[in-house]
Amino acid sequence: MNGTAQEQIHELDALVVRAGFGGICMLYKLRNELGLDAVAIDKVGGVGGTWYWNKYPGALSDSEGFVYQYSFDRGLYEQTPWKTKFVTQPEILEYLNGVVDRYSLRESIQLETGMTDAEFDESSGTWTVRTDRGVTYRCRFLFTGLGLLSATNMPSFPGIETFEGRLVHTGAWPEDLDLTGKRVGVIGNGSTGDIWEREASTRRSLRYAVRRSRRR
Ligand SMILES: Cc1cc2nc3c(=O)[nH]c(=O)nc-3n(C[C@H](O)[C@H](O)[C@H](O)COP(=O)(O)OP(=O)(O)OC[C@H]3O[C@@H](n4cnc5c(N)ncnc54)[C@H](O)[C@@H]3O)c2cc1C
Repeated sequence: MNGTAQEQIHELDALVVRAGFGGICMLYKLRNELGLDAVAIDKVGGVGGTWYWNKYPGALSDSEGFVYQYSFDRGLYEQTPWKTKFVTQPEILEYLNGVVDRYSLRESIQLETGMTDAEFDESSGTWTVRTDRGVTYRCRFLFTGLGLLSATNMPSFPGIETFEGRLVHTGAWPEDLDLTGKRVGVIGNGSTGDIWEREASTRRSLRYAVRRSRRR
């Protein structure tokens, strides 16, 4: 927190820390169904969580589209127009933004606001949650669901510090990056690495896949 900024304290019933699939649903349940005074915060500049971060070419769901959506609103479920069996990142992000607008959740979401610490006071039964924006929340209920994939893991191996090219992580994809015709090495061959390799070949990027040897 900036020590010179005046601390603002917001009293709430509930605070949700994240605005991905889970956080949007939680905010909807707390605010729209239970009528609680609830707010969600996220450290990035948009909603969507994983789908905000993973903007690399070719990113798409592993589950079939008919299960990878909310089921709490039948009308929404029936009108969701997935075009393909697996759903692409831009479609999922658009869907999540659509859900936020459909239920007027945006007014209760504070973006670019990261939780820095949380303290529970046993005597009053309240949480004090501090953020990197100088805003402090006091609430009875705190829901954290920071997601398995919201922190990137950049591998460390000899020579990485002297590599002169650009190093990027699929989980924090820079929007200005066009790899067409570039020489690209891919480290990791889970589903993201595989998708990415396929996408790179359609863009005619020359690529090298670095794979871990198979375990027996
Ligand atoms: C390419 C890809 C395909 C996938 N396909 C599937 C699939 O088919 N089926 C499936 O079930 N899952 C799939 N997943 C997993 C996906 O992550 C989850 O389905 C889901 O989106 C996770 O949502 P979440 O709300 O739990 O977390 P996230 O979407 O990760 O959201 C967590 C949020 O917390 C925020 N945050 C973290 N720390 C802080 C902090 N200190 N303060 C404030 N905010 C913070 C982050 O910015 C992030 O926005 C896929 C993931 C990827 C990357």
